[in-house]
Order: sequence, then C-alpha cells, then structure tokens
Amino acid sequence: MIECIASERIETNCYLIEEEGHALIIDPSCGKFIIDKLTEKGWEPDYIILTHEHYDHIWDLEEVRDHYGIPVIASSLCSERVQSIQTNLSSIGDILIYFKTGEEPSEPGKRFTCRAAEITFDETYTMNWRGHDFEFQRIPGHSPGSVLITMDQNSVFTGDYMIYGEPDMTRLKGGSKKDYDRITLPVLDAIPADFHVYPGHGPDYIKKNDTK
Ligand SMILES: [Zn+2]
Repeated sequence: MIECIASERIETNCYLIEEEGHALIIDPSCGKFIIDKLTEKGWEPDYIILTHEHYDHIWDLEEVRDHYGIPVIASSLCSERVQSIQTNLSSIGDILIYFKTGEEPSEPGKRFTCRAAEITFDETYTMNWRGHDFEFQRIPGHSPGSVLITMDQNSVFTGDYMIYGEPDMTRLKGGSKKDYDRITLPVLDAIPADFHVYPGHGPDYIKKNDTK
C-alpha cells in the first residue's frame, strides 16, 4: 500500500509504503503528518529514503529519524549536500516558494542542515524490503544527488523529475542541463509505459508512451 502525504508548506509529497505493518518513508517533508499517519495506521517505519537533497524534501528529516531511530538511505552526494544550507537550498527557500507560488510564505522558513545518511551509495543500490525489490539509481541534472527509485518493476519514485504537466527543472543551483541530457533523460525515457509514477510534487499517474 502506498500513501501520499503532501506537506502544507509547498506541497512536497511524502510517500509511505506499507507492508506487513511496516513502512518506508520517502522524503520526510512534514514530520507531524507523517508521525500522526504512522501512529493512526499502527505502522512501524524501517527506513527513510531520500529522492534528493533539496530542503523541501528533507524539511523534517531530523525530527522523523530521531523520533523513530531509523536509518536513512540516500546517494552519497545527497547525503553530503543535506549537510549545508547552501546545497540543500534552505538558504533561499523563501525565495523559491515565492517564485513557485507567487506568494510570500506565511512565516519565514527555517535554514537548516541534516546529518549524513547511514546508508549511502554512489551510483546504484538495490535492496529487497519485505518482498519488494527496490533499485536506486543516481540521476543528476535537477541536483547532483537526485535518485530514481524503482519498486517491483512497476512503480517509480522520481523526486523532482516527471512532475505531472511540468518540464524537468535543471536551473537551480547544483543543477546541470548537461548531466540531465547525457545521463538522466535516457533513463527517464526508458521507464516503461504503464509504470506508476510517484513524483515529489503534484499527482501520481500512469506513464504513457507519448509523454514522460
Ligand atoms: Zn528539488
């Protein structure tokens, strides 16, 4: 079972994947909602997984990891870059929200850093979790530490790529159109049609052949 919790701040999706009463947390953007939902469902989380290092996806990472005492899985570059307000972009978070929504945030955002991930990998990583196969693959371009997470050869968690109706964004600090074109675009294009796409913002959807 996959549940999506969108944080109120800038509507960054956090996904909870449940199996046998246990859960994975992808992108802990909204700690209180995550903890409330897990408590309500009675699910015990095993791991936190990060799609990439940007502040809106790790907003409550420290709160959630401390609350449950569970390890974090991320690419090495993501793990490195969550540790600085410059590279996690929390230094310019309010400006980014303004550009995205056209409105000033209701309260000033925090500038914050996170600790390194416990489990890191450079380019790829695989794991089987409670009968589900996961493949992690670094796909730079949006950010150096961005990762595509494929689950059971039928679902993908894409972070800030493949957001429904929006072009992929490579213009933020740390982004690289060159890496995107060379490394990432072929990977995204190769995701089979009919895969379920779970992006970091907006609705999930089924991939079609003619669109990303
Ligand atoms: Zn991002």
